[in-house]
Amino acid sequence: MAENVDAKIVIIGCGIAGIAAAHRLVKSGFTNVRILEATGRSGGRIKTGRLGNTMIEMGAAFIHGPSEENPVFCLARDYNLLDPKSLTPENQAVDVGEDPPLVPNWFTSSGQKLNPDDMDPATELFHVILDNTPESTTDKQSWSSVGDFVKSEFQRQTATKWKDKDKHTRQVLLGAMNSMLKEECFASATHSLEDLDLIGFSMYLSIKGVDCTFPSGAEGLISNLMSELPANLVSYSRPVRCIHWSYSESEENAVMVECEDGEKINADHVIVTVPLGYLKNHHSTLFSPPLPAQKLESIQKIGFGTCDKIHVEFESPWWDADCEIIYLVWDDEEDISDHVSDISNNWVRKISSFNVVKSSKSGSHVLCGWISGHEAEHMETLPEQEVRRSITELIRRFSGDLTITPTRIECTRWLHEPWTLGSYCHPAIGCSAQNFKDMMEPLPTIEKQEPLQVMFAGEATHPSYYSTMHGALLSGRREADRLISHYS
Ligand SMILES: Cc1cc2nc3c(=O)[nH]c(=O)nc-3n(C[C@H](O)[C@H](O)[C@H](O)COP(=O)(O)OP(=O)(O)OC[C@H]3O[C@@H](n4cnc5c(N)ncnc54)[C@H](O)[C@@H]3O)c2cc1C
Repeated sequence: MAENVDAKIVIIGCGIAGIAAAHRLVKSGFTNVRILEATGRSGGRIKTGRLGNTMIEMGAAFIHGPSEENPVFCLARDYNLLDPKSLTPENQAVDVGEDPPLVPNWFTSSGQKLNPDDMDPATELFHVILDNTPESTTDKQSWSSVGDFVKSEFQRQTATKWKDKDKHTRQVLLGAMNSMLKEECFASATHSLEDLDLIGFSMYLSIKGVDCTFPSGAEGLISNLMSELPANLVSYSRPVRCIHWSYSESEENAVMVECEDGEKINADHVIVTVPLGYLKNHHSTLFSPPLPAQKLESIQKIGFGTCDKIHVEFESPWWDADCEIIYLVWDDEEDISDHVSDISNNWVRKISSFNVVKSSKSGSHVLCGWISGHEAEHMETLPEQEVRRSITELIRRFSGDLTITPTRIECTRWLHEPWTLGSYCHPAIGCSAQNFKDMMEPLPTIEKQEPLQVMFAGEATHPSYYSTMHGALLSGRREADRLISHYS
């Protein structure tokens, strides 16, 4: 362990990755650590808000795999942020992959409530196909993407499995299958599964445990971590304009960080935790000299998509008392597909499910809808009134009740958040494990120069837990550990 190291360390971004890096460095005796954050708050994509009296999560909500292996779970447990059920050994032992078992209600676009058991052929087929996504391509069978594989498997398997079903049943099951594919698009923050690399898809590792949420809000994790850091460690509303590395004007420090307000800060090491969406759009001005080719290739190849949440409040529920998720099944779809044509008129068709938001407040009836891809990007451009009109129409159509009027609606606009420019990363076509390795590689790579000038953390730098809070947190700790061993 290092003791009282006074190397100057600047961390850019106060999301969970930046906070985790600062935490570990400060606890290990580094005395000169500073975080520069563009916005006026900590937490980044962990952002808790309110819709009326109900607490809602605009960003991360679920601890994916709440068990010992997940550092977010361990911290949340230690800070007393979880409900008793999530802490039980049984909950931690269940291996459900990416699909927590939720009690569903199914509604069709003709306003019909379906029997959940009747949807089993679709849900089972969906899981069988996704669970068997190949981890390597063979010469004989090579699919160009996850979507390509799913489609061809769907055609092959339904030709026998669904052949005796009547036309209406097949139509509804197809709609249910499409619903789940759209949900998968949200999970991967992608427009279509056709944009996901087949081999890259298997890089993501899931952790045991049934996904759980923070009953009092995910930002509680941030405030607890922040309370253990020295006051004034973070400079808020301090966007960084340019990181000058291999900086020759200063004899003492290898890096100079230039802020938007003109402040110039010399540093020995900089840990960059800005989102990949920001890097994709601003790398050419954020680094001087420019980033090396391999880093640029990773920034380009790792995908960064948009997914948004739409929170809708009702006076009374139109779903069952025990319902945890509502699936919307379009019963007029003709083919297997996870995206819509004519987005400006049909963007709401991409919303395939609504989670029932758990609340400690009685009388709170809030749903959280999910939308991703170009449809989400389009929604972000619409005026609030227009979103409200389309969502009300959607709910009336599926519930079969033409009098339902939501009391409040609020949607996120992650693509338009200037310091994020999207939601989270995914393995786009052509993306490989090497791209994630190159993404986390510190600069400079030339041995003779001052080492570890610029280091990279954040969810998009974790090779197997990308897109998650725990991946981001671990990446921050990883870069802190790199400095700790450098000074040990
Ligand atoms: C809608 C949505 C739902 C999600 N759901 C889940 C979920 O259920 N479970 C889960 O595990 N994960 C989920 N995630 C992903 C999770 O939120 C992220 O992986 C994680 O929070 C990323 O942390 P980070 O520190 O890498 O980045 P961020 O939290 O984005 O932090 C980066 C920080 O850098 C700052 N910054 C950017 N540019 C500059 C600059 N030039 N100068 C200074 N500061 C700058 C930003 O303002 C930001 O605060 C979700 C994300 C979204 C958007």
